[in-house]
This record gives sequence, C-alpha cells and structure tokens, in this order.
Amino acid sequence: MKSKVVVDALKSAVGIRQRCLYCCDSRSADVDHFIPIGIDFTKAFKWVNFIWVCPECNRRKGKRFPLDPTGAPLIIDPTQVDPWDHLILDTATGYLAPRFLDNDFDPMGEATLDVLSCINFEAVTEGRKRVIRRYYEAIDRILESSGSSTQFAGLAREVREDEYGVSAWFALREGAKEEKFLQLRKDFPHCWRKFVRLALQN
Ligand SMILES: [Zn+2]
Repeated sequence: MKSKVVVDALKSAVGIRQRCLYCCDSRSADVDHFIPIGIDFTKAFKWVNFIWVCPECNRRKGKRFPLDPTGAPLIIDPTQVDPWDHLILDTATGYLAPRFLDNDFDPMGEATLDVLSCINFEAVTEGRKRVIRRYYEAIDRILESSGSSTQFAGLAREVREDEYGVSAWFALREGAKEEKFLQLRKDFPHCWRKFVRLALQN
C-alpha cells in the first residue's frame, strides 16, 4: 500500500501525461533510481533521485551509469538537464543523435543514447515523426489562412499535446531555422512569439 502512495505521488509530480521521462514514448510504470543504489545507497529514498520511467528504459538502464573523468553522470537527467543541450533531432527520420562539438560528439548525448538505445526504437521515432508532421500541418494552415487566430489555436493545441517535447526543438533550437518555421516568424511574428512562449511552458 505504501508503494502505491509513492507511485501516485510521483504520477502527480510529473503531471497527467505519465509518459516515460527518458523515451517520452511509453507509459511510465516504474520508478528508476537515477543514481543506481548500487553506486550510492544513500540515494535509495531520496525523492530527487526518483525518475518515473517505462519498464523498457528501466531495464536497459539497470545498473549502467557511466561517469565522466570527474565522476559526474554522463546520462542525461531529464529533471535537471535540457536534453537539447546534448542531442539533436533529425526531423526527417525522428531520430535523436548526439550533438557534434568542436571535434567529437557530445559525451553526455552519446552515453545517453548508448545506454537508453530504446530512445531511437522505430515505435519512438515514428511517434516523433507523427508529432512533427502535425506541427507542419498546423503551420501550413496558419500560413494559408493569413495567420487567423482560429488556426493559431490549432498550433497551440499541438504544443499542449506534444508528448515528445519536440516543440522546444522548433521554437528554441535548430528547428527554428526550418523553412516553415522561418516563414511563420517572418509573416506572422505575433504568432511566432506566442508559439515560442507556449513551447517554453511545455
Ligand atoms: Zn522509456
């Protein structure tokens, strides 16, 4: 009974979506200790060390917890780190890849995708592609309707229903340079700013 209380509290803490915080695809059903208790048993009952995840991500991560030479975690903690600082989105395929830095790939992005390879399973990439396609369609409707507020409501709905967190890629990262989004910013700057503000809240 006690564990059910903990699980319900965690569900409310992460909001009504109850999606896995690592892959964003599957329903979350497990509690992951971000820092495995095999590495630091003092984190066993620390709330800040709990991450609400799906069984597949939980199984893949298991005890794997690579560290950098300073001893800092190399897996992205989605409650502390913005994944887009370390990952990029291929909008044609829905795949996530590590950022390329000056002369090598981002180690945190690389380690995260290595350990949690299910982040790029076909079902997950297809889910991302579906969300991306809906953004494109919503923007097309705005462009075709001369920026009507009715059509903007459609884009706002897509942001609210964006389970994969793709809105930030288009509003704040390299996705903002894609043709449709550049067009929206150029032709309807007011709509663009509202979109960015919504993405920031998402
Ligand atoms: Zn997952």
